[in-house]
Amino acid sequence: MKDILDIHSHTIASTHAYNTLYEMVSAAAANGMELFGSSDHGPAMPGSCHEMYFCNFKAIPRSLFGIRLIMGCELNILDYNGKLDLPERILKKMDYAIASIHDNCYRVGSREENTAAAVNAMKNPWVRIIGHPDNARIPLDYDALVAAAGEYHVLLEVNNSSLAPTSPRPGARENYHTMLQLCRKKNVPIIVNSDSHCAASAGCHTHAMELLQEIDFPEELVVNTSIKKLAQYLPCLND
Ligand SMILES: [Zn+2]
Ligand SMILES: [Zn+2]
Repeated sequence: MKDILDIHSHTIASTHAYNTLYEMVSAAAANGMELFGSSDHGPAMPGSCHEMYFCNFKAIPRSLFGIRLIMGCELNILDYNGKLDLPERILKKMDYAIASIHDNCYRVGSREENTAAAVNAMKNPWVRIIGHPDNARIPLDYDALVAAAGEYHVLLEVNNSSLAPTSPRPGARENYHTMLQLCRKKNVPIIVNSDSHCAASAGCHTHAMELLQEIDFPEELVVNTSIKKLAQYLPCLND
């Protein structure tokens, strides 16, 4: 399957990632990406940057090392109402936003409560991707999640880091099997991202692509094959 984009990644600004923005983009270009997105953690993540970081993306060129670059944030979903850790006045200055649940910024609830948190975050018009909905420690109702992604026109992520042997998120493989079967059934597209915290894995999707191949997931439901496909979710790409 053609795979030319990766828009979930972290730089030293997150303080638990280890390369600069330029190093990340350079590595992604060398890895064959045509579009790269930088999405440092929102301010609620311990050690991550101040909201000011997300206000000044105009300073950064949108083309580097011969590839296209977009600048966003991996927002933290803070509660069951889908509250996020950046306000709209800042969200509208960025190219895009991913929203994810991290157990150090969120009190893990029941399956129903966690699902409500993710679905309510999807209702925010700035949120176009739900990051790593795969952690067995944060159970989700995949039927409801996939239906909501279709309804609110949001992409569900298949996160390569979650599927790596060093994965911080247990049960990801099994949960993706469930989620992807439902995406196929309900015709809901997905995005594969690296979630790289180091240049060595920028643009690297080996584990996720293996999984998609293994279950013969339909290529037309994977937005990684063309920027035009992703542009249906990220209006910044139409500029
Ligand atoms: Zn995350
Ligand atoms: Zn991340």
